[in-house]
This record gives sequence, C-alpha cells and structure tokens, in this order.
Amino acid sequence: MRTPIIAGNWKMNTTLPEARSLIEELRKTLKGIKGVEKVICPPFISLALARELLEGTDIKLGAQNMYFEERGAYTGEISPSMLSGLCEYVILGHSERRGYFGEDDKLVNKKVKAAISFGLKPILCVGERLEERDAGQTEEVVTRQVREGLRDLDSLPGLVIAYEPVWAIGTGRPATGEEANRVSRLIRGLVAELYGDTVAGELRIQYGGSVTKANIAEFISQPEIDGALVGGASLKAEEFSSIIEQTARIKGQ
Ligand code: PEP
Repeated sequence: MRTPIIAGNWKMNTTLPEARSLIEELRKTLKGIKGVEKVICPPFISLALARELLEGTDIKLGAQNMYFEERGAYTGEISPSMLSGLCEYVILGHSERRGYFGEDDKLVNKKVKAAISFGLKPILCVGERLEERDAGQTEEVVTRQVREGLRDLDSLPGLVIAYEPVWAIGTGRPATGEEANRVSRLIRGLVAELYGDTVAGELRIQYGGSVTKANIAEFISQPEIDGALVGGASLKAEEFSSIIEQTARIKGQ
C-alpha cells in the first residue's frame, strides 16, 4: 500500500504575511484528514516561518528548488544543507526550472543526488512539452528524463516522481486520467527495470497539471497515480483541502 501524497507548489507567490495567513487557514481546513501525506512548498523566504507554524500538525514542508553544492560562492542559491532539517521534500526538475532557467537532465541529476545524500526527499518532475507530445515523443522524453534524472543512484529513498505534462501546467487543460495513468505505468516500469519490482511497487507517482477540486477524482482513482502536485489550486485553502479530502476518500476505499 502506497500512502497517497498531495503537494502544493506555491511557485513565486505569497509575501511573508500572505504565507502566514494561508498556512493558518490550512491548519484549520486540513485538520483531521487522515491517510494522505500533505505537503506544502512555499517560497524559500517563507520556509522558516512555515516550519514554526506547522509545528504540531501533520502538514509537511517542501522547497521548490535547490542547488547541488553544499556551500560556497554561488550567489543567490540555496543548498541541500540549508534545507535539510528545515523541510522534508524538495521539488526538482520542475518544467518551469527546465524551461525558464535552462536546467537540463544532467543538472537535475546532480540535484537529485545531492538531495538524497542530505536526507531530503526529491519530488522529481518529468513531462513532455506540447510539441513533443504532438510529435508522438511523450514516452521517449519521459523515459530520458527518468533515466537521466536517476543516473548513478543506487537507491531512491523517499523519492517521488511527478508526471507533469508541460502543456497541462497552468493552462486549465489537464491530461485525462487515462493518459496520466498510462505515462505513470511507463514510469513505474522503468523504475522496475532499473531498481527491481519492490522499489517500483513502493514508488509514489503524482500527476501534475491543472489539478483542481473538480478534476482530482479522475486522477486519483487511477491505479498508477498516488497523488498530485498542485500549483494554482494550492493557493486557496478551501480548494487544496478539498483535493486532499477527496484523495483520502477515494484512496481509502
Ligand atoms: C505545478 O506547478 O507543478 C503545476 C502542476 O501547476 P498547476 O497546478 O497550476 O497547473
């Protein structure tokens, strides 16, 4: 049995006071929902505050990115040693990092390795762009991103993979449950090939891309999908809580 995991990627949203009030709301609306791992990923500047505010709750904390070096002259970057002890998860290889900031599979792989070596659990994002999908390259792109992202890793402690088709992110045009399930099955198969059936059977795979309270049921009822990485809809406490509550209900059946 894989525990479902819903993570909210706040992206570059919320000032410190806004983060405080969203977390205070989430503390109330998420209270009592069991059977789902709940994660929020606020901007770096809010992580320390979030940690304080989440004390005594079952809401976990993640970062949205990280550099792979431990310390040094890397102006503006945040290291794994700064995050470990502060949060449990770190989103890596998000398509916005790949697209706007030129992150390639090699860099993402260095980050995944660094995160794991510091005891952080990576949420490794993979997914094809629209032109790749239209060219029938979804499988090829996702296979490359998974293989390269995990290159030279002997084990995958805590790793989560998020399948996020780029054309579905922030567009209001999600994949279908069936499509997302098919690609998730491909990812699990690849991990089985690389690490064996036990590791693959335990791996949690999220779908991400325009998930809302109105469509979460379609994704979470798929056998290969264990949760969601939620962007826009994670900024509204009521909406995010509904996504988690529906996940608990459907996966708990
Ligand atoms: C994301 O940022 O990972 C994401 C899936 O965004 P949205 O839910 O807004 O499409």
